[in-house]
Amino acid sequence: MISSNEIPRPRLVLVVDDHEVNRDVLEMILSTRGYEVLTAENGREALEQMRSRASELSIVLLDLIMPVMTGFEVLETVRADETLRQIPILVLTAEKSAELQALQLGAADFVTKPFDLPEVILARVGRIIELCEGRKLISAAEHDHLTRLYSRNFFFAYANRLYLYHPELRFDALVLNIEQFHSVNALNGREYGDEVLRLLGDEIAAFLSETEGIASRFDADRFDIYCVQQPDYRAVLDRFQRRINAHSPNVSIHLRMGVMPWREGVEPIMLFDMARAACNMVRGNYQNPLMVYDEDMRLRELLNQRLLNDLSAAAEQKQLRVFYQPKYDMRCDPPRLSSAEALIRWNHPELGMISPGVFVPLLEGNGLIVVVDSFVWKEAAAQVAEWKRKYGFILPISVNLSRADIQDPTLEDRLVALVQDNGLEFANLKLEVTESAYIENSTKLLDVIRRLRARGFEIEMDDFGSGYSSLNMLSDMPIDVLKMDMKFVRHIEENETDMRLVKLILDIAQYLKLKVVAEGVETEGQLSLLRDAGCDLVQGFYFSRPLPPEEFELLIQREIAIQRE
Ligand code: C2E
Ligand code: MG
Ligand code: MG
Repeated sequence: MISSNEIPRPRLVLVVDDHEVNRDVLEMILSTRGYEVLTAENGREALEQMRSRASELSIVLLDLIMPVMTGFEVLETVRADETLRQIPILVLTAEKSAELQALQLGAADFVTKPFDLPEVILARVGRIIELCEGRKLISAAEHDHLTRLYSRNFFFAYANRLYLYHPELRFDALVLNIEQFHSVNALNGREYGDEVLRLLGDEIAAFLSETEGIASRFDADRFDIYCVQQPDYRAVLDRFQRRINAHSPNVSIHLRMGVMPWREGVEPIMLFDMARAACNMVRGNYQNPLMVYDEDMRLRELLNQRLLNDLSAAAEQKQLRVFYQPKYDMRCDPPRLSSAEALIRWNHPELGMISPGVFVPLLEGNGLIVVVDSFVWKEAAAQVAEWKRKYGFILPISVNLSRADIQDPTLEDRLVALVQDNGLEFANLKLEVTESAYIENSTKLLDVIRRLRARGFEIEMDDFGSGYSSLNMLSDMPIDVLKMDMKFVRHIEENETDMRLVKLILDIAQYLKLKVVAEGVETEGQLSLLRDAGCDLVQGFYFSRPLPPEEFELLIQREIAIQRE
């Protein structure tokens, strides 16, 4: 709204009447209140003036009966014109019978001739201008310019009203987000990104026209939808995803959605907090991009909060340790200890051993993983050096890299320094990067990895097959080793299809000259099937669980003994 200390510019009024005396009277009345007045003698002149000063005009006072062009014709022309329609028109009329027709043609109001009291005219003019300006202000503030959905503030004000005054409406909160939207922009341009947002806005509007609810867009790619409970949220998400796919068949854009169902006594803003938390839980989860908030999630969130709080103490109090799991080379008989993977462990004083499957994704979410990874790499590099010194045995160790590490501009320098400071070769430190990071396929990631590989670091693609990397993508990827996801190995003994898949992966890897590590090998049976199929390397409980360094050393001693035989 306009604040009181702002100096208002004079409002511009157009008075249209074929009688000079009428124009003079109105001009005189209006100028007493500081209005600036333009005049026209007939409809045609009026339209000319309106067109040339459309953005400045606050109101038009229009006579109906005039030569050349009547007021009715003016009203009709204005009604068909997007721009002129924004200017309110007050009709001047002597005949009662014309009023209705004028109103139907879009006039805002009327005054009768001979003219009413000046006060009445001024009051009507003032009120109409105020109404019209207020409406324009509100509509600018209540909509998101790109999608025409509501703006954040208006959306929550509206949602709160619904919540307070219509408790019978049990609305759910939905939060919709585009995965890696910044990459969509970076790869295809901002205009394209805007187009995707607009399209999604359209589809949400279409969805809401079929059900009850309101929606808003903010923070670039976040859409909040407050709507009547839907029978199947997966279907709702699929519908939005389909619209995007149909528009962009050659660009992969993935949506994810979090839902917080209506809950007694919980305000919309809280519902949306929880829906957003649910939506964040499925970040990067292309297979299952929908999460409905439930009690488990609430407990998990509390735990997550606690873990994040406890982390700095953990680092100081040496609760964090690096364990090592061996990888064996199957091309030798007996299989030979060829390298190890460094895996972080957190021994919490109250919660006991916490799996990295729990806290690593958490730390990835807030960027702290960079600190932990840096600790693990340092330990691992020092460990290679120590065993080399102690046993003359070089055991290369692979470490895990997160997405956040890739974003760090000092990554290459830090890794190079680690290798050099410990007197190692680059090949002694291998780097595991998960498949899904590749799928997101930012040119940045490929760039960073290419440079590291050119230095001599060996690159392993972790969790291969867990996401959607297409096989033809593989041929251009800067990698040396595929780590086949555990899910392929788990059932190869009883499921022939799984075994065929494993063989297919091995064939493709061979064709692309990539080595393959099978992860999660637990049984003799799995081992022999993999060996017969020509798998190079195996990691899994069958050989050993991840071990603290002092226990791992026994494997090295045993290996040295075997090699001496
Ligand atoms: P990953 O890199 O794929 O690591 C392999 C995981 O499989 C390890 O789980 C390992 O203990 C487990 N595993 C190995 N052999 C078997 C088996 O035969 N059967 C079964 N069921 N599991 C097996 P862990 O240590 O719990 O780590 C889970 C994930 O956490 C890792 O998956 C990795 O993505 C992440 N992670 C672990 N340590 C680090 C780290 O230092 N930095 C980063 N960024 N991520 C880490
Ligand atoms: Mg790994
Ligand atoms: Mg893995």
